[in-house]
Order: sequence, then C-alpha cells, then structure tokens
Amino acid sequence: MKFNTKVIHGGQHHDPSTGAVMPPVYQTSTFVQTSPGRPLNPDYEYSRAANPTRTALEEALASIENGARGLAFSSGLAATDCLLRLFKAGDEIIAMDDLYGGTYRLFTRLYKDSGIKFHFVDMNDLEGFQDLINENTKLVWVETPTNPLMKLADIAAIAEITKKHNILFAVDNTFATPYLQKPLDLGADIVMHSATKYLGGHSDVIAGALIIKDKVLGDELHFKQFATGATLGPQDSFLVLRGIKTLHLRVQRHCENGVKVAEFLLNHPKVERVYYPGLENHPFHEIAKKQMIGGFGGMVTFTFKSGAKQDAISFLEKLQVFTLAESLGGVESLANHPALMTHASIPEDKRKEVGITDDLVRLSVGVEDAEDLIEDLKQALA
Ligand SMILES: *Cc1c(COP(=O)(O)O)cnc(C)c1O
Repeated sequence: MKFNTKVIHGGQHHDPSTGAVMPPVYQTSTFVQTSPGRPLNPDYEYSRAANPTRTALEEALASIENGARGLAFSSGLAATDCLLRLFKAGDEIIAMDDLYGGTYRLFTRLYKDSGIKFHFVDMNDLEGFQDLINENTKLVWVETPTNPLMKLADIAAIAEITKKHNILFAVDNTFATPYLQKPLDLGADIVMHSATKYLGGHSDVIAGALIIKDKVLGDELHFKQFATGATLGPQDSFLVLRGIKTLHLRVQRHCENGVKVAEFLLNHPKVERVYYPGLENHPFHEIAKKQMIGGFGGMVTFTFKSGAKQDAISFLEKLQVFTLAESLGGVESLANHPALMTHASIPEDKRKEVGITDDLVRLSVGVEDAEDLIEDLKQALA
C-alpha cells in the first residue's frame, strides 16, 4: 500500500459489530467477561491496557511509520517519558543539542536525580558524537528538523553508528511527519510524535505516540505504558485518527505555503535570517534533500536585521491572520516567540548558546491561502 492509501486504510477494519466505517468512540473503561478471566473479546479487558478506538489509532500509526507496533499516549511528553523508563541509573543517553523545550526539561530536570546521564551534542559532528559512546550508552535521541532552529541530523548516518554499537536510536518526527520522512526506514528503532501537532492537525487535542520497529521492544513499551497509565482516551484517539486521514493533503499544502512564506521573508529588508530546510542557503539543505521526501514542511523561523526583541514583539502583536499561540502543525497559521513562550524553560545562557535569540520568531504556516498569509506578514513587518 502506498502512503496516501495507508493514511486512510492502514491497519483499519470496519467495526465488526455494526459495520460502521469509522471506528466508534468506545467510551468505556471496562469490558464484560463471560467467566472470571475470560473476556467476551480476548483483546479487551480494561481500557488502560487496550481500547478499540485507541487500537485503531495505534494500528494506523504503525502503518504510516512502517513500524511493528504503535502506542498512543496522553501527550508527546508522556510518550517520551515512557521510553525513558527503559533505562536505569548508570545508563547514558546522547541527545541532540537543539530540542523541544519540554523534552529538554524532562531530560534535565525530571530525570536529573535518576542516575541516567544525558549528553547534549551537535549531531552533525559525527566524530565527536562517536567519541562519547561507551558501554553505558543506551540511547541516541534526535529531533529533525529541530524546534525552533530547523537543524537537521542525518538519520541514516547516525543509524549506521548506533547499529554498530547496539544502541537504540529514537527520532522525534513531529516536525517532518511520516509524509515527508520515515526514520524507521532510514534505520532508527523508535519514532516519537507529539500527535498534538501535524498528526492531529486541527489544534484540538493533546496526544503523543511511539512507533517501534521491533515487535518485542514494542510489547515491552506497551507493558510500561499499561503499568504507568498515560494512555490516550477514546475520544482523543478518534480525533487523531481522523486527523491522520488527511495528513498527506494537509502536509502537502503546508509545504507549498511554507516555501512561499520562507521566500517572502528571505527577500524582506527587515529580515536577517530565515531558517527553512527548503532554502538552498540553509546549512542542512543537502541532508534535507536526502531524507525529506516531497517537501520541507510548514515550519519557518526567522530573525530581524535590527536584532531587537521589541521588533519581534510588535510584529507578533500586529498579526491578523496568524494567531499568536504556542503549538504548531494545525490547519491555522500560528506564530510564536520561542524565548518568551515555548522555550522559556531553557535557561537563558543555554538558549543564547544554541541561537534562540530574543528576536527569533517561529511560524507554523497553516493551509490558508498563501496570498493572505503573505499580506499579513507584510503588514505586520511594515
Ligand atoms: C510539542 C512537541 C513535543 C511535546 O509534545 P506534547 O504533545 O506537547 O506533550 C515534543 N517534541 C516536539 C518537536 C514538539 O513540537
């Protein structure tokens, strides 16, 4: 099955009891047993372990990312937290140095006293990265493209190294989505999503996912999910599943609008730098062309010539079509000031060190008419 068919049919079955084309929202916590320990349907006993609406979503997730198992969580961070439960004191994790603020907070603050050691490195320095590997290294964690600086990591090149050393390799594929990039096909073991973003696609649900290439590891992670309980409810599972059915259409338009917005900004006299992997001057454009198929996404970040925080703030206050709000990946265009909003949890010196300056603005370009979006940017920059 090709991708555009998988988003609609992958892992999906008509409801066996009624023939409903879409899986009903099975709003139930528990399932009947005919005799103690013998559920009427052997797959369902209690919704923390499995719920049919969530199962339909999890099978769709596995299908679109080409994994053996999909798991749906109550948020992206809950998914990442579940993955971290594979590790114990003494283990080491190597992560990319530009991460979603919440992921960084989870690694550095919640797991600070866990005894797990985190290294944050430039994943494009493959030699420096390899030098850090030792017998305690258990996981490599990469986000590509990153939030908000649109840095890329070469998934296939990193996978070659992690395979050689028998280290798990996880990729946060939130920004690219499987429409543009399939980490498991490129050699990663686990894909993580904030399904809140493009998979859900309509800014109406908080959800997360892990998709695992190996069935045994998938079952182990399912056990951890079941035992800790951050599962996605049936109503929210339904919303993400519905979002996935139009993922290919939406992301295609996000990409088209993303290119137009990036090019407009690139030529604007008040704009200093534009971070968009589709631009030829983007430092990771070659990697983008290699591993992102069919487009470069709808996330565009830029800075001001003046370098002034106030310019960024007044631009954001003037926007009419773009909405000033955290999050991304919905049909509507959003604008965000990372230093004051999404990435405020990263200490100022660290933020400056990686390049999240006070004049940096991140746009999630939606699927509205591109001309309206550009007119809006023009008036807000004037
Ligand atoms: C939003 C986001 C997350 C966290 O997901 P939640 O659903 O908000 O918990 C992780 N990674 C990236 C890249 C994100 O954008």
